[in-house]
Amino acid sequence: MAEKREDSSPGRGAMEDTPLMRELTRDHARRKKLEGLEFARPENTRVITVANQKGGVGKTSTTVNVAAALSMGGLNVLVIDADPQGNTSTALSIDHHAEVPSMYEVLVESAPLSDVIQPVPDMERLFCAPATINLSGAEIELVSLVARENRLRNAIRDHLEERDQQGLDRLDYVLIDCPPSLGLLTVNALVAAREVMIPIQAEYYALEGLSLLLNNIDLIRQHLNPDLVVSTIMITMYDVRTRLAAQVAQDVRDHFPEQTLETSIPRSVRISEAPSYGQTVLTYDPGSSGALAYRAAAHELNTRPAP
Ligand code: ADP
Ligand code: MG
Repeated sequence: MAEKREDSSPGRGAMEDTPLMRELTRDHARRKKLEGLEFARPENTRVITVANQKGGVGKTSTTVNVAAALSMGGLNVLVIDADPQGNTSTALSIDHHAEVPSMYEVLVESAPLSDVIQPVPDMERLFCAPATINLSGAEIELVSLVARENRLRNAIRDHLEERDQQGLDRLDYVLIDCPPSLGLLTVNALVAAREVMIPIQAEYYALEGLSLLLNNIDLIRQHLNPDLVVSTIMITMYDVRTRLAAQVAQDVRDHFPEQTLETSIPRSVRISEAPSYGQTVLTYDPGSSGALAYRAAAHELNTRPAP
């Protein structure tokens, strides 16, 4: 028995090649690299829409955790929840029951953003414009409104101007979380932004449906927002233990070598647990591989030149 156990216990060389060892080594390197890293302020406010019409690919997790990482790096960040499900608002611990003024009032009733923005608890430089269930009606109500595709863009422009006039510190980032569809809410988000960030889940059907999203982005660029660029692709839910994940990630990098962040986000149970505590993974478990990855990804995003 004893002999058998000795046989099956891997030697040091073998240990280093297990997925777990690779993960630990990567986290250690990441932790060291992140120590004392500065987040330089971008020259202008960067408005980034996080879009992918597929559900469950990590849009919301990416929005809230990147936003948290940027704000903890000393930057002023506004998160706009444009998904009627309100998962972003939940994850940031923002009140969003039906009576709370929300993106519905902004988009449909032309309320100024400053009427609905709430500070995120315990996060000094992080703010959120919540989504309530009312926003689900906006998709239909917007159809009959004037400039229906430009309503979010106008709201953000007015808000930035208003802050400027009041002498408030400039926002460094506005991150917009989209619903899993290509309807008018997503169109508004794509018209409002300069950049699109696409989270791609490292799973089998990852690239399927992507051409539809890219076609839509092309159409918006042609007709409504000539400056729009897909600046960032983020590989999410990367499972180091599967060869499939590595293949998909390689595929994504081959297709989008410039846009894909070096940092991919690992599959991590901490990331999925955090929202039920009304927290981002950065505060829920700062030392976890998910938190480290989102900090590294946010730093990478901030370091790359803005388009
Ligand atoms: P989307 O907004 O695109 O629908 P979410 O961010 O809500 O996607 O993620 C879908 C589900 O997967 C959620 O339950 C979330 O907690 C979980 N999840 C997201 N990213 C990760 C990850 N890196 N590891 C493990 N679970 C994740
Ligand atoms: Mg979501």
